[in-house]
Parts: sequence; C-alpha cells; structure tokens
Amino acid sequence: MLAVNYRGPYRIRADRDRPMPEILHPEDAIVRVTRTCICGSDLHLYHGLVPDTRVGATFGHEFIGVVEEIGPDVKKLKVGDQVIVPFNIACGKCTFCKQGLFANCHEANPEATAVGGVFGYSHTAGGFNGGQAEYARVPYADVGPMVIPPDLHPDDAVLLTDVVPTGYQAAEMGGIQPGDTVVVFGAGPIGIMAAKCSWLFGAGRVIVIDHVEYRLDFVRKYAQCEAYNFKSLEDPVAFIKKTTDSLGADVCIDAVGVDAAGSAMQTLTGKKLLMQAGAATALHWAINAVKKGGVVSIIGVYGPPANLVPIGSAMNKGVTIRTNQASVKRLLPRMIDHIQKGHLDPKAIITHHIPLEEVPDAYRIFNDKLDNCIKTVLIPPT
Ligand code: NAD
Ligand code: ZN
Repeated sequence: MLAVNYRGPYRIRADRDRPMPEILHPEDAIVRVTRTCICGSDLHLYHGLVPDTRVGATFGHEFIGVVEEIGPDVKKLKVGDQVIVPFNIACGKCTFCKQGLFANCHEANPEATAVGGVFGYSHTAGGFNGGQAEYARVPYADVGPMVIPPDLHPDDAVLLTDVVPTGYQAAEMGGIQPGDTVVVFGAGPIGIMAAKCSWLFGAGRVIVIDHVEYRLDFVRKYAQCEAYNFKSLEDPVAFIKKTTDSLGADVCIDAVGVDAAGSAMQTLTGKKLLMQAGAATALHWAINAVKKGGVVSIIGVYGPPANLVPIGSAMNKGVTIRTNQASVKRLLPRMIDHIQKGHLDPKAIITHHIPLEEVPDAYRIFNDKLDNCIKTVLIPPT
C-alpha cells in the first residue's frame, strides 16, 4: 500500500510498497483512510526532535476512514462504518482511562514517564504506525473510534481527531473565568482553535502572538481576537504587561511547543544551553507574561527530554501550570455539539487538500508556511 516512510530529519516520502497492516489482536480493526492531516506535532518528528523516531516509520495521528476489517472481539464497530479515530490509543479499562485521561493510557504504552499510545508518533509513544497511509491498524477499536454523524462534513470530522478537542482542552486547562484576559502563543491550527474556544469559557479578551502575518490575519477574523507579531513588539512580555495594567494576563496558553529554530541554532553553534533556552521561547514568555496566581496551560509538545523552564519565576508568582496531551474521546461529544450548534466551524482552517503521493511537498508547504498554509489534509488514492 501507499504510506509515508520517514527516512530521517526533513526526509519524508510516500512509498507504494509499504506492508499492509494486519489484525494483531482480537480488539483491533483495520481502517481504510479517507482523510489524514499533517499536524504541528508531525513537524517535531520531521525536525528529528522526538526521541526514538525510527527510519521506516509511518506518521499520522489525525485520520478518519472506513472500517475494512475487525478482530473477533470488536463489538461496537462493523465493516463499512465511517469513523473518527482519536489520536490517542487507549484501552478504556486502566486506572487512567477510567478517569477520562485517555491520553495517558497505561496499557497502550506502559512506559511510566511517556505519553500513552499515539498513532505514528515514535517508539516513545508506543511505536504504532500512523494514518498517513492507505490503511491503518487501530488497536482497542471499540474504545477510541466513533461513527461519524451523518450530517458532519468529513473535513470537520478529521479535525475532531485532534485539533478541535486539543484547542478546547488548552482553554479548559487554563481554567478561564468570565472576563479573563487570555494570551495564546502560536497561531497555528492549535492556537487558532484555543483562541476560538477561549470565548466559549467566557474570556473577556483574547490576544494571540505569532510572527507569521497571514496566520495573524486569519486568527483575527476567525476567532475575533487581537493578534500581534512578536517581531514587531520590542518585548512580548512587556507588551502584555502594559496592556493589562501591569498585572499580566489571567491565563497564558503555550500552543507552540519545542522551537525547531532553537535546536537548529544548537546544531550550528554546539551550544547546548542556547538550544534549550531557544527551544522553549513561548513557554518562557507565557510564564513571564501571566499574572501572579495565574494559570499557564501548555498544550505545545516538548519532545526532547530536556527543556529549560523558568520554574523559579513560576514559583515566585504562584503560577499554576497545567499540561497534557488532549484526551480526544472525553471531549468528542461536546465538540460535535458545538459544531452542530454553529459555535465552531473547524473546516474553515483547512487551506490545502493534497494527494498523499505528494507528501514531501505537503510537509514542506506546512513547515515553511508557504502558500498561506494553515492546515493540510492529505487524501489517499481511492
Ligand atoms: P504549527 O507549527 O502549525 O503552529 C505553531 C505556530 O507557532 C506557528 O504559526 C509558529 O509561527 C508559531 N510560533 C513559533 N514560535 C513562536 C513563539 N515563540 N511565540 C509565538 N508563536 C510562535 O503547529 P500546530 O499544529 O498549531 O501545533 C501547535 C503545538 O501544539 C505543537 O507543539 C504541537 O505539537 C502541539 N499539539 C499538542 C497536542 C496535545 O494534545 N497536547 C495536540 C496537537 C498538537
Ligand atoms: Zn495532531
């Protein structure tokens, strides 16, 4: 089958001779992928920043498709069902899943310090192949996948696998109170959705910070918020303080994660500290720009094991830091309700539909922010 084949940092291709996935466990299903996205999290893999990303891996944790085959213990799905597949692989039975922490499932990935299972996200996240392929193996098929409601557009459905619940959870973890000022660092798909969802929690003011002008223009209109280019602000932290009566924001959301430019600097200079500080710029800004007693919600992903966090500053200010991978299954029904009521219009952020065969170009366009790209959907051949 045709599937993405990772060859090393910045080297990715789609090959036609990749092996078909097989049912390996009675609770597995095989899904024929109909749409799959490229995520900012895939860029961390692409940059070679996620430990234990192996050559030959197939990426892709955002996909929808049609159930092609089921294992003997799958009871809720049937062949032919069209399904949303959450990016988390979760058993539904362990102590964490029972608390709704589907992102932290112990059975899918028992490694205590790591995330739970994630499709196409290195051996750190369980070593599962992903959905940037014609077919994917879906473990615990009765737990994660949800049949797509008939009135839901497939472009909305594919964004329910990650972007919508993740943006929502970023705002939720912020504990936003009515009237709060929320600052979102990052105007990628996740930051855009976090800004939009902040209003659902009663924010009084939403400010987005990025440096890509077309994304700032987009988020201003889409999320009806303020948006500023950090390159034209002398100091983003000072700016936020100034515009909040010197207090700082009530809630800061880091929707950037590890900063690849920082690590490129490390490769060039060999200065480890410079890399680490550069690698968490948005997080430094978030902690320094939040008010005393405020909340920093970190939804951006930090793949490398070490990042310098200004923990002293967070402690001195009594900052609450909340962070997790999104628990997609927990939020899916609420997200579908928001879409059906017209509160959220996820598909508006999709700028590109690209055939899966053209995956090298698709990654380049998304990574290099070409052609006003915000979100890319890859379409496998039919
Ligand atoms: P993206 O790469 O499209 O967007 C990131 C944006 O951040 C870009 O527009 C970039 O210009 C901007 N940026 C870079 N440095 C910045 C800085 N210092 N301050 C402000 N903006 C800066 O990625 P995305 O798809 O929007 O994902 C964003 C982050 O969320 C990634 O780290 C991704 O791994 C993470 N993510 C987390 C989860 C989760 O469950 N926790 C799920 C999906 C994505
Ligand atoms: Zn994603």
